[in-house]
Order: sequence, then C-alpha cells, then structure tokens
Amino acid sequence: MSYILGIDIGAGSIKAGLIDRNGKIHKESTARTDASMNNDHFAHAISLAIDSLLDKNSIYGIGVGSPGPIDSKKGIIHSSANLPKLNQFEVLQYITNKINVPAYLNNDANCAALGECYFGKAKGSKNLFVFTLGTGLGGGWVYEGKLFNGFDGNGMEVGHTTIIKDGAVCGCGNLGCAESYFSAKGLLGRYKDETGTTLNAVSELFVLVESGNAAARKILDLGCDVLADAARNIVNLLNVDSISFVGGLTQSWHLYGERLSKRIHSSVFPILSNRLNIYYGENQAILGAGSLVMEGEKLNG
Ligand SMILES: [Zn+2]
Repeated sequence: MSYILGIDIGAGSIKAGLIDRNGKIHKESTARTDASMNNDHFAHAISLAIDSLLDKNSIYGIGVGSPGPIDSKKGIIHSSANLPKLNQFEVLQYITNKINVPAYLNNDANCAALGECYFGKAKGSKNLFVFTLGTGLGGGWVYEGKLFNGFDGNGMEVGHTTIIKDGAVCGCGNLGCAESYFSAKGLLGRYKDETGTTLNAVSELFVLVESGNAAARKILDLGCDVLADAARNIVNLLNVDSISFVGGLTQSWHLYGERLSKRIHSSVFPILSNRLNIYYGENQAILGAGSLVMEGEKLNG
C-alpha cells in the first residue's frame, strides 16, 4: 500500500497523517506548537509530528498546508501570525532531507479548497470556490482540478475584499472587508461595537442567537448578508458551479445557512443560480494538504 503524507500546520499544532487516494486517513500524529518557537524549535515539532509516520517504502508524496505568507515554489514559510519567531523556514527542504519524495507546500485555505474538490462534498466539481469560515475568512478557487495560486501560492484573499463602503476597520487596515463581518474575529468585533460587550469566543455569540438575543441575531444576520454578497461577487466573476463553506463556523450552519443560501441564489444571475450547488461542512486539513500531491501528479503528468 502506498500513502501520501499530509501535514497541516495549524494555530497551535502540527497534524500529520498517512492518507490514501480515496481520502482515508490510516495513521495520524500531532505535535503542539506555541508562539515562542523559533526555526529550530519548529523543526523539532515537525519531527515529533512526522517521524513515527515515515516509512520510506510506502510514502510517495508529501503535501504541507500552512498559513501564509509562504513561497510555494521554494517551499518556504516566510512568517506566521501564530509563530512570530519563525523566519524564512525552509519546510520542504527540512522534510525532504528525511524522505526524498515529491513534496508540495501551499496556503491552508488553498489546501482546504483542493481537499474539498478531491475528497469533500463538492468532489468532482469543475469550477469550485471554497470559503474557510474560522478565526478569519479565507478562500480558494479550484478550476478543472487545479488551484489558482496567485503570487507564490498566497491564495484568494476573499476575506479582504470590500463589501461595506467605509465599514468596520479590518485587521488588514482597510475598511469594510468581508472578514470584518463574517469570521470569528469579525462577528465578535461587530457584537462589541453593537453592545459594548466582549465575548470570549464566537460559540458564545451562537448560544446567544439560539436563546433569542436580538443584538446577537442582528450581528449574525448582517455578517451572513455580507458573506452572501462576497459569494455573489465570486459567482458572477468566476462562474463557479459550486461553492463550499468549510471550517469551524459551519457547526452553527443551522443558524444562518438558509438565509445565506437564499441570498446568494436570489442575487446572482439567474442562469448561474440555476446550476449553482452550495455545500457546507467541516473539512479535514490533513486531506487538503495531501491533495496537493494528487494535483501535482495531474500537473506533472
Ligand atoms: Zn481586510
């Protein structure tokens, strides 16, 4: 049996797994990371996550997903918001020194999009856009099985497109970005603007919505409409046949999904609406990273 090694570098951990071409995870391993880690510490954490999985006879490719900014061609993580002491870390070089097989690095939102296309509910879509609903709002576009990479693999920053003119201040410094309205950060920020109250986690906001709290409902509805407008822009621009919403915030889909889907379908061109599929659900980041290997095979013949 031959496996792909998928590695996901997340906010507080590195997750690795051996996967097959059908998207089944056969063996997994995790190592924790923390904000004090420099390049050497981080290299050690990668070893902890992958060394127990490294069977040189059975792994034929490696895919790594990481938050940006990265250089996908050179296999470098430039820096990371969660690991501020990381600096120009040559992640693919480090791993291929241990096992010399084809290896790929890409932005985590791009990996989520590719994973959804190869293994998720939108499997087989010819033209798919994926929104990642988490701490921030990310995006990735897969056209005919191939990622749109942009410059060096830094992805489709749909969260930082302007939806509300002169709207709320975003972490990127601009006003009215989609992420400022629909993301864990954005929803909490807008709730604080509305009520003066700081919530500790977005799950608290969803509990308030479920209990009938009017301010929480208002903020979620506003965020939902902003997200729908961002999706409308994408559908009209790229003519996608499918949109997938993935990530932690989809656990509360029942509180906003119907409104979101209706607003997207009713606002895009009718001819596009008729054939548009909308999916949602959690995704497995290890599979997304691993799917880079399958895309690489396709591109390299
Ligand atoms: Zn922004």
